Amino acid sequence: MGKASKEILDLSFLGQEGEDAPSRKANLGWDAALIENARVMVVGAGALGNEVLKNLALIGVKNILIVDFDVVEKTNLAKSVLYRERDCTGEKHKVEIAVERLKDLNPKLKLMAINGDATLDVGLGVFRKMDVVIGCLDNRMTRMWLNRYCFALGKPWVDGGILSLEGQVDVYAPGVNCYECGLGPRALELIEYRNGCVNRMKRYASAGLANTNAIVASIVGAVQVQEALKLIADPSRSLAGHQFYFNGRSNYYDKLGKATPRRATCRSHIPYAGIVEAPLSAEHSVAETLEWLAGHFNTRQISILLHHQVVLKAATGQSEKVKRFVKARPHVTEADLDGLREIPEEEVRFLEWTDTVDAGFPYPELRLRDIGVPPYHILQVIAEGKKNYVELSADERFLKFE
Ligand SMILES: [Zn+2]
Repeated sequence: MGKASKEILDLSFLGQEGEDAPSRKANLGWDAALIENARVMVVGAGALGNEVLKNLALIGVKNILIVDFDVVEKTNLAKSVLYRERDCTGEKHKVEIAVERLKDLNPKLKLMAINGDATLDVGLGVFRKMDVVIGCLDNRMTRMWLNRYCFALGKPWVDGGILSLEGQVDVYAPGVNCYECGLGPRALELIEYRNGCVNRMKRYASAGLANTNAIVASIVGAVQVQEALKLIADPSRSLAGHQFYFNGRSNYYDKLGKATPRRATCRSHIPYAGIVEAPLSAEHSVAETLEWLAGHFNTRQISILLHHQVVLKAATGQSEKVKRFVKARPHVTEADLDGLREIPEEEVRFLEWTDTVDAGFPYPELRLRDIGVPPYHILQVIAEGKKNYVELSADERFLKFE
């Protein structure tokens, strides 16, 4: 830059017969083995997720974990290269169809799918085994949790956002920048409120409402994958700490400096140090888990802090009916509340809940997964007042790319 006239690079000869790159390795200019063997988690298989997955598959990133909880709907078809009209039965999950189509595109891929919510259903041990996480999301709450999990495990993540003809990509790397530090007090309040919502659609209130299109999704998705590849093979060139911004109305794009001061009160800056790899699993009962922890830490003063609340008792406001059940609060559905309301739309309150599991937990026979702990999770364990991180390492077999 700075010159009055720029020399124009002539690439017009490329793409002619005989000029194709002989291999993917030559095409990328990066170490193909690093890229092939990397493990990449893609969260969200909507418009952006489709573009990201398609690019990863074409480039030959073999180990891809796809996380999404939605089913394929007709509204997805105009912006999602992987879905077809015949997928819109109302029962086919995006992750299951995406796996099928990606295998078609590149049979060498080793894929894994989690049909669930990235904030709740993906164990932190899974994050720990990833090289990079790519967020293809439409809500702040999931972004905030991804940011916390990635920071905790020292993993970089690439966030993409699209709205109408505008799009942006941010790369967050531990020690460089933080998504949560960039959120204002109002956004944090809203996230806090939605965290507590029962209904999944209320939790992700923006889901499906954003005006997005295939063109901006393909540009932003492409830059996200480019950045993910850099994080794997050439991190010094990463966008971390800056933002890629694109506006399709004017074809304006820029790399913006986006340094946000770190907030001392930010809850994302908690690294999981000294992780204990325990022979435990989400299939173990609460009692078995507490017993192992007591032996390992040589104390009976053990409590497990959960990322979520476990509901034990719900009641209605007006008719004062009460129902007991045990379920992670974000997993509670209208079906769980069946028989509770006598007046339609009657407000339901959770009378008893806990986010701590210790010797006083009333259902010690329940398995960890029954109270919402995902396989291969890393538990936060307080032993005699000191915090420890304990991985359910017996669940390693859960992580299966095939
Ligand atoms: Zn922060």
